[in-house]
Amino acid sequence: MKRILLLGASGSIGLQTIDVILQHPDLFELAAFGVGKNIEQARDILKQFDVPAFAVQKESDAVTLAREYPGKTVLFGEEGILDLMKQTDYDVLVNALVGFAGFAPTLAAIESDHDVALANKESLVCGGELIQRALALHSAVIYPIDSEHSAIFQCLQGNRTRQVRRLIITASGGSFRNLSRDQLKDVTLEQALAHPNWSMGAKITIDSATMMNKGFEVIEAHWLFHLPYDQIDVIMHPQSIVHSMVEYVDHSVMAQMGTPDMRLPIQYALSWPDRLPLDETPLDLAKVGTLEFHEPDKERFPLLALAYEAGEKGGNLCAVMNAANEAANHAFRNRQIPFTMIEDIVIGAVRECPFAELNTPEDLLAANTAGYEYAVNRIGKVY
Ligand code: MG
Repeated sequence: MKRILLLGASGSIGLQTIDVILQHPDLFELAAFGVGKNIEQARDILKQFDVPAFAVQKESDAVTLAREYPGKTVLFGEEGILDLMKQTDYDVLVNALVGFAGFAPTLAAIESDHDVALANKESLVCGGELIQRALALHSAVIYPIDSEHSAIFQCLQGNRTRQVRRLIITASGGSFRNLSRDQLKDVTLEQALAHPNWSMGAKITIDSATMMNKGFEVIEAHWLFHLPYDQIDVIMHPQSIVHSMVEYVDHSVMAQMGTPDMRLPIQYALSWPDRLPLDETPLDLAKVGTLEFHEPDKERFPLLALAYEAGEKGGNLCAVMNAANEAANHAFRNRQIPFTMIEDIVIGAVRECPFAELNTPEDLLAANTAGYEYAVNRIGKVY
């Protein structure tokens, strides 16, 4: 029985993780969980699972819930999450938090020798170097939940990483893949939130539309699979059936395919090396008919090119980029800025924030603040 501590339980990945746990009650058990502001979801989870403790974002919600559930420990805030991790007996952390907030729990799990099933790619984008250092000192392992990285992980099974020629990450292109740069100027939030293939949370759906998400995935792949950036390629694949590929030195290309359903990568991250049945619609290639691939247009999607640049240069740049993106993405979702300004702000932050080395969690915090403040300043000038 694997005991799971689930953070971000009320989000898209969180809910699908709960579905996976419920499908295999003989193998998986929910040990504890954290939600943000969605306390209705906390109540729902508590109907299905008897956990001794859980965490919410706001103190006032914690007070309310502590009254409703007198036998349980209710924690709150970032400290509350770390306390929950300390006091819970668990085997694997499923980190489905959104954004920079996911970094500290990922690091804390590794430093306490707990495995991490990682959906929070920002942990590696911002603090990949720090996470890598912690992994070298501890027995913990990261299992990717991001579908592309799960695909690569699956394609690597039974092969040797040192014989990899390159990783090929597939990209659907997001909601606006068929629009020109000119047409992007007037797009609405509602249009941006309608992803053609995947059902995901709002933040990542916007990141997909700008392809910042794909840029993050390149950086995530660099840290997960220890390959330089010139061995990590992106290819456009509108059908999202091939979830990513690995090319070996003999030019054999392994691809992992499936219907776009996040429950498969979630389940594999928890069941590896085993495979378990999953009640998803099986892939019917005859029905899909055509699989298309083409080169990404780096001028059309400047944030993809920017991610390569920030990743290569290293230091604080990826954390700055992530923080500026987090603020700009949020401002777009609040209808404070137009869609194309997300790109302007993120590019501006990477160009204009001073470069610094990133050696400690304090350096990371400073980089996050710098990127965030740059973005807030730019957003303030629009509003
Ligand atoms: Mg992905």
